[in-house]
Amino acid sequence: MVYACGTLRCDGTAAEGTTLTYANTNGAQYQPHVFDQGICQVCSVPDAEYLYPNRQGYYPISTPQALRWFAAYVASNPAHASLDARLTADLNMRGIPFDGIGSIAVPYSGEFDGGSHTIDYLTIRKTDQNGVGFINSAHTTAWIHDLTLSSHFAITGYRYVGGIIGHVSGPEGSIIRLERLGFEGTLTLNNNGGAIVGCIPNNNITAHLRSCYSVGKITGTTECGALSGWSSYARLTNCYARVNGSGWETGHDVVRGFTPVFRNCYTYGAKQTAEGLSTFTLTEMRNGTLLQNLNDPAYTQVTGTDTNPKLR
Ligand SMILES: [Zn+2]
Repeated sequence: MVYACGTLRCDGTAAEGTTLTYANTNGAQYQPHVFDQGICQVCSVPDAEYLYPNRQGYYPISTPQALRWFAAYVASNPAHASLDARLTADLNMRGIPFDGIGSIAVPYSGEFDGGSHTIDYLTIRKTDQNGVGFINSAHTTAWIHDLTLSSHFAITGYRYVGGIIGHVSGPEGSIIRLERLGFEGTLTLNNNGGAIVGCIPNNNITAHLRSCYSVGKITGTTECGALSGWSSYARLTNCYARVNGSGWETGHDVVRGFTPVFRNCYTYGAKQTAEGLSTFTLTEMRNGTLLQNLNDPAYTQVTGTDTNPKLR
């Protein structure tokens, strides 16, 4: 084995002013990471000392940089996939690079509590990638709840693209719980996209959506659904969706998948019909009628200001 000798930066390249020599023994001196707001400016590794979980075991996320750090920290070690986080403030992600949380290879399995906060101005652009979303991929042991992704939230991916979650996996017969999640942004993709769950390829895994909504826009080629691009036997309670965009499969444009079960759900612009899925007009969405029909304390609306029911 031949080693580079001399002073190396943390990413393994020669430090400024260093001429590398080579030898059979390891004679390299590494410079320390250059951390700025939790991320090394040279090699991009997250600083393990940047944030600590609070007494309840959550990483408290109060800044855009902390959210970026949490995604990078989860990605840096498979043992971090089950870490829990809780937003403690609304976040404006403008100009902050963010890769999404988890991956199809190592799905996120922790609790992500949005703390009833909103994330805005976040852009993820991975045109050729499968499994893209705020959570790129989740295991069914994950619990994602109380989060709104607002109108300047833009995600681009290829397949299995979701606003909240791109892709879900887990053991046969398992269930993922998704509660009080809102999506008002835009998704751009080829196939299998939806605002809350892009795709659950395994038909023996079920999603339970409670008090989730989308008024966002999905621009796809095929196999999209306003709430999910494929989730078989999904159970939806007190959810609503505005179908807006392209890539729908006629008759399955709210949720694609084998026999979704709707309870007190509402849609505008859909061709899908099912028991428990009623329609609303844009006037009813604005004037409080939809809010009244949802009859769910998770929602609130200031009529005249909010154009749709929001999460409390
Ligand atoms: Zn570094």
